[in-house]
Amino acid sequence: MVKFEELNTLNPITWCGGCGDFSMLLCLKKAIVELNLEKEEVLCVSGIGCSGKVPYWINTYGFCGLHGRPLPVATAAKLTNHKLTVLAMGGDGDGYAEGTSHFIHAARRNIDITYIVHDNQVYGLTKGQASPTSDKGFLTTSTPNGVLEMAINPIALALSAGATFVARSYAGMQQHLIEMIKEAVKHKGFAFIDVLQPCVTYNYKNTYQWYQAKVYDLQKEKHNTSSLTKAFEKALEWDDHEKTKIPIGIFYQAGRDTFEEDHGQIKKLPLVKQEINKIDITPLLKQLQ
Ligand code: SF4
Repeated sequence: MVKFEELNTLNPITWCGGCGDFSMLLCLKKAIVELNLEKEEVLCVSGIGCSGKVPYWINTYGFCGLHGRPLPVATAAKLTNHKLTVLAMGGDGDGYAEGTSHFIHAARRNIDITYIVHDNQVYGLTKGQASPTSDKGFLTTSTPNGVLEMAINPIALALSAGATFVARSYAGMQQHLIEMIKEAVKHKGFAFIDVLQPCVTYNYKNTYQWYQAKVYDLQKEKHNTSSLTKAFEKALEWDDHEKTKIPIGIFYQAGRDTFEEDHGQIKKLPLVKQEINKIDITPLLKQLQ
């Protein structure tokens, strides 16, 4: 089984000092070690943004995709080799703007992958524009008079799209985040974790101290994770970001057949193990002539 040090790379890390992404990378590595995985069994796929750099800094298989598109790559990889542990990383700009439709459809397909979103409520890499989870009124370089739209609620979106594992964690509570990643990877089906990730450079509102005072653990409150209704109630608790506490933990978990299990061509053997060169496509070609 892989040791923690073996997951390090020599590539210099370029995140800003104090960024919540450092903690998220650390927790990801620790979760992989505690899950007793081999590094060759893991693929980390990213989109673009500060979160998009994760594959450079973790020594597993990796793929940096296009902006908002880690999920199509992760889906293809999982369908080709469903023995692989596939971890898709995105940001709130990446995943909840360009990537929204991929998010919805991956959730309803219930592909057995884990999707971890670094949600700092701002675009970091492009220098501080408003993102889909920025609070109404938030001052940014693209919204000098404040954001006009209401923020997307990623938890409610995942629930309504049919995700079978929906969780939130916080980069400042490492043990919690490690446990959430482990539970998400162990879950059979599409597992989604929205991670509150302080951006110390461009988000002046949501600091470590702010989150620390606001988050509370659903599991300590004995939240019923099998109830979709209760999950929605908890998801909507954080609609007024200034006044309410923020629930973290598993909101919802359900069992449902995965896309791979229902797919006749791959359910017995991963595509990568099949002798596809021996498949005779002549009849198909004749039909198309
Ligand atoms: Fe982190 Fe924000 Fe810096 Fe990006 S811009 S590395 S999210 S602190």
